[in-house]
Amino acid sequence: MKPGTAEIIGGGFGGLVAAIALARRHWTVRLHERREAVDSEGYGIAVQRNMAAIFETFGVLEEVLAGGARLDRRDSLDRHGRVLMSRPTERSPYRVDRRHIVQVLAEEARHAGVDLCFGSTVTEAQPDGRLMTADGQAFSADLVVIANGVNSALRDESGLLTKRRLERDGAVRIAIPRLPDEIASAAIDGTPMIEAWADNRRVLYCPVDSGRFYVLLGSLAEDTEARATTIDPSVWSRSFPTLRHFFNRVATEADWTQARWAQYQTVTLRRWSTQKIAILGDAAHAMPPYLAQGAGHAMMNGLGLAVALDAAPDLASGLARWEQRERPLTDHTQRWTRLYGNTLFLPDPLKKLAIQAEQRIPWLARQYARAANHLPTGCEKT
Ligand SMILES: Cc1cc2nc3c(=O)[nH]c(=O)nc-3n(C[C@H](O)[C@H](O)[C@H](O)COP(=O)(O)OP(=O)(O)OC[C@H]3O[C@@H](n4cnc5c(N)ncnc54)[C@H](O)[C@@H]3O)c2cc1C
Repeated sequence: MKPGTAEIIGGGFGGLVAAIALARRHWTVRLHERREAVDSEGYGIAVQRNMAAIFETFGVLEEVLAGGARLDRRDSLDRHGRVLMSRPTERSPYRVDRRHIVQVLAEEARHAGVDLCFGSTVTEAQPDGRLMTADGQAFSADLVVIANGVNSALRDESGLLTKRRLERDGAVRIAIPRLPDEIASAAIDGTPMIEAWADNRRVLYCPVDSGRFYVLLGSLAEDTEARATTIDPSVWSRSFPTLRHFFNRVATEADWTQARWAQYQTVTLRRWSTQKIAILGDAAHAMPPYLAQGAGHAMMNGLGLAVALDAAPDLASGLARWEQRERPLTDHTQRWTRLYGNTLFLPDPLKKLAIQAEQRIPWLARQYARAANHLPTGCEKT
């Protein structure tokens, strides 16, 4: 089809990638982001192979990785700090601060000619391509991309929502400084990502850049003691006694003014599009983050959309082709990330078996890694 005009709602991973990919295919693109500037919460995002391929295609991979940390292995521990499984970090060798990634993508979008409108909150999106913003402006386009995250009211109003499930668990994410001897020992022994499971709690931490650890503290929704921000180190030490000093540091050194406990959600739509509207990212297919693929799928589906439209005779067949090609893998990851996350609910002796199963059953490991190993549409090797 002939490139036309696109209004994109949301300047996260999905919206920015869709904007860049459409602009590079000669669409006239405007992106609305309700925040006042290129910013986002700062926490670690696993840059897996599929995501890295998109950065490479955009020519920004080095820049993205320069702001992050390389990890050598993933160690899964029990409550006593015993290593249940240690694996090379094949599917996710880098952690990068989300804020850094969004900044690099926004710069690339600007470079591609996207009109970035910050402080622009879209309040209405009609299937015929008309938009309204909170400050009363009206816009109209050949394509509207709703990519404004898991709590999207625009998605709810589209009539496409079939399921929005609040999961039983969630997490708080923060960062703390790394100690000089931690940095020094990583240079000798390699850099691990630590993931510890006990009771119905999960601790994950790893470097997110040269000077900071990214820390994720996961718990059940009803575990009000564990959900508190600031954390109480004695509450977390009950489940992970060997990490007591670490929790003391987390309680005193993190910036708790920014922290919030977020409940995981799963979203599914009847279809990903209707008339001139396409919905992608967490707005369309949010998932619990156990396989760390939510942003990866938002980006793959943003790029896949532009590629499908480029090859299609008209919008309707392009949107249909897009969903037909991208959705099976997204559905697969939604299912398998929940399955992996179920480890949280198992009694501790069974947790060990569930964690080690990934190493013992190659087929299972392949299901977990399918999205990471996927070469995204639009990144075909030349
Ligand atoms: C604990 C946790 C850990 C995670 N770890 C990983 C990981 O390691 N790797 C990974 O790939 N994924 C991870 N994810 C998932 C990932 O964060 C999301 O899947 C990803 O952010 C979705 O991107 P998005 O662009 O769809 O939405 P978002 O990133 O939510 O962006 C939406 C944007 O839209 C804007 N917006 C909202 N409403 C409006 C409006 N009305 N008008 C204009 N703008 C609006 C928002 O301000 C925001 O900037 C994790 C999630 C959680 C909860």
